[in-house]
Amino acid sequence: MADGIKKNKQGSISGGNQLEKRTITAMIRIYCKSVHRSKELCGMCRDLNEYALKRIEQCVYGVNKPVCQHCTVHCYSPLMREEIKKVMHYSGPRMLFRHPVLAIAHMVREKRKKKNNPGLTDSDIRSQNKIAK
Ligand SMILES: [Zn+2]
Repeated sequence: MADGIKKNKQGSISGGNQLEKRTITAMIRIYCKSVHRSKELCGMCRDLNEYALKRIEQCVYGVNKPVCQHCTVHCYSPLMREEIKKVMHYSGPRMLFRHPVLAIAHMVREKRKKKNNPGLTDSDIRSQNKIAK
């Protein structure tokens, strides 16, 4: 099994959180491999990953959480926030090539946040919601 990814104790895996966790882990992997030249996650990135997963688990928004970048609750400590930001900036665009499904799901969630998007009709939003269920 993949290291570092554990089912939570209740045994229930909530879809939204799980996706967010996989996205974060994948992003940190890409970042560490390219920037830190580390085959496995280096100690720092392992800490960051664990920290981020814990934060996602404890997120006050639960499954309906916004994407972390747009979250109004600043649950990351300033230091970790800086690190996560770097990781997201670096790995975000690269996710499209290595993990297209995760990246697209991530973008859809982000898009849904932008209520004033003129290109998005109500039926678009409804069909997106259907996919999410
Ligand atoms: Zn690293």
